[in-house]
Amino acid sequence: MLNITVGDVKQYFYCPRIVYFNYLMSDFRPVTYKMEEGKLRESEEERLEKRRTLSRFGFPSPDKAEHKISKVFHLKLSSTSLGLSGLLDMALIKDDEVIPVDFKDGSFSKGEIVSLHHKYQLMGYGLLLEETYKRKSIKGFIHSLEDGKTKSVYFSEGAKMFLKGKLRKIREMILDEEFPDETRYRGRCRECEFSPICKG
Ligand code: SF4
Repeated sequence: MLNITVGDVKQYFYCPRIVYFNYLMSDFRPVTYKMEEGKLRESEEERLEKRRTLSRFGFPSPDKAEHKISKVFHLKLSSTSLGLSGLLDMALIKDDEVIPVDFKDGSFSKGEIVSLHHKYQLMGYGLLLEETYKRKSIKGFIHSLEDGKTKSVYFSEGAKMFLKGKLRKIREMILDEEFPDETRYRGRCRECEFSPICKG
């Protein structure tokens, strides 16, 4: 099975054509194009993160917690059954649950809600964690390294099924070389590095 990455999932929900161009127009690859993965790469950030409490994720302090929660950093995840892989910034591991945490470089703007592409990126990590740890993954967090704010995303069973269907669709699009529709959000095209080949 063709392996795709969680970064591809994020890009697909942002604009499917980006994934198409990245796989099928490999002669045209913008130099700055990269997966937004592994943002917690600075050792200083990681050192600070290890010392922080889990209160911003809604968990009690360790002395009050019923169950131990451990933090694992820089997880390389992969599943042959899902045909998916990814590099996750951090996971919170509980006895009965695994929670992906993605770190965002910028700050959250006022009233900002989690976009669909971030939501399904996080859920992709959740699916991989479920496979790896054999525990359920029902939510994840996006944490801003800039303003320290954290937003949660819940993964319903229906949404996970929907995402699995999309993984199949992304793979089919690549293997069958199906040119997808462009994003409905035309503002995204202004900053898109694939614009020269997309718009002719
Ligand atoms: S230019 Fe617009 S439609 Fe084309 S790949 Fe970029 S974001 Fe998608």
